[in-house]
Amino acid sequence: ASTVRLLGSTQVITSVFSVVKELFENSLDAGATSVEVKLENYGLEKIEVRDNGSGIRAEDIPVFAKRHYTSKIKCHADLESLTTYGFRGEALASLCSVSEVFVTTKTAAQDVGYTYSLSDQGDVKSTTPSPLPQGTTVCAKNLFKNLPVRKQYHNMAKKKKEDFKNVENLLMAYGIILPALRITLRHNKELVWQKVSLQNSAVVMHSIHGKAVMGQMEWKRGEFQDPEMKIELCVPKPGSDVATMSRSTPDKSVHCVNGRPVIVKEIDKLVRQYYSNCHACDMSRHPVYFVRIELPAGDVDVNLEPNKTTVMTTNMTSLRERIEEMLLYLYGPLDQ
Ligand code: ADP
Ligand code: MG
Repeated sequence: ASTVRLLGSTQVITSVFSVVKELFENSLDAGATSVEVKLENYGLEKIEVRDNGSGIRAEDIPVFAKRHYTSKIKCHADLESLTTYGFRGEALASLCSVSEVFVTTKTAAQDVGYTYSLSDQGDVKSTTPSPLPQGTTVCAKNLFKNLPVRKQYHNMAKKKKEDFKNVENLLMAYGIILPALRITLRHNKELVWQKVSLQNSAVVMHSIHGKAVMGQMEWKRGEFQDPEMKIELCVPKPGSDVATMSRSTPDKSVHCVNGRPVIVKEIDKLVRQYYSNCHACDMSRHPVYFVRIELPAGDVDVNLEPNKTTVMTTNMTSLRERIEEMLLYLYGPLDQ
C-alpha cells in the first residue's frame, strides 16, 4: 500500500514548484487577500505558505489531509461549474507522504488556533495551541525525505535555481492575474519579491517589468464581452521602445483562463504575428503582454494534467477570432 501511495504522490508533488503551486492555490481558494511564501534551501529544507484566508473548519481537521478529501466539491455535477483551483483532494495527502507537514489554522469562529503535526497518512499526530491570527500556515520540511534519488536530483544547484525561477514566475503571474492580492516571497529569510495591493493588471506588470525590461513602455488595452466569453488584452503600444523587447522571453507574458495562469500557444502566436508586423521586427521578438479570458466553466477542461497548466476549450475557434479582431483594432492589419 505504501508503494502505491508513493507512486500516486509522484504525480502531484514533483518539485518544490509543484508544492508551492498547490499550497498557494489552496490559499486562494480559502479567500486569502495576502499570501506569504517562505523557502529554505530553495524549499528542499522547508516550504512555508501562510495566508489570511478562512482557515480550516474544526470538523474538517481529522480528514482534511486524507487522500481524496476535498471540501470544494460535493458531487460530480460541481465539476461542471468549477470555480476553485483545487478539487481533487490530493495535494496535502501527497505532501504528507513525502515530507513532514505541520498545519497551523484558525477560523473566524475560533478564539484560538492550533498547530497540527501530520503523519505520512495525513492523520493528526499532535495538536498544540498557536497564537497566529485567522488563516492557515502549511509548513513542509525535508521534502522527498523518503525518496533519496529524487531528493539528490532536486538538490543539484542548477535544478534548484531553475525551480526557484519557476516559483517566482508563478507568483508574479498570480500577481498580474489578481492585482489586489498581496504576495511576499522569502528565501532563507531574505526578501526576494513583494507585491502590495494594486489597481489593475497593467499596473502590476509595469511594477514587475517596468524598469528592467520595458523602458518607456506604454500599454494598449482592449476589452471584449459577449454572453459566450469575456476577454481583456493588454499589449505594448505601437511606437514604444521595442529594442529591449528582444531580451524578453514568452514566460514574461501571462495568459489567464478562468483565473488560472496558462499559456495558450495559438494565442501567443497570434499576438507575436500582429506585434512583429506592427513594430516591423521579426517573429522571434517576444512582447510582454497580458490576456485574461473568461469562459463558461463547462467549456474549459483543466483536468488534463495533475499540474493543470494546459487548458482545452470547446470554443477555441471563436476565441481565436475574437482575439484576432482585437489585435487588428489595436495593431492594424497584417501586411501581405
Ligand atoms: P483540494 O484543494 O483539491 O481540495 P488539498 O489536498 O489541496 O485538496 O486540500 C484538502 C483540503 O484542505 C481542502 O479541500 C480544504 O478544505 C483544506 N485546506 C487546505 N489548505 C487550506 C488553506 N490554506 N485554507 C483553508 N483550507 C485549506
Ligand atoms: Mg488544493
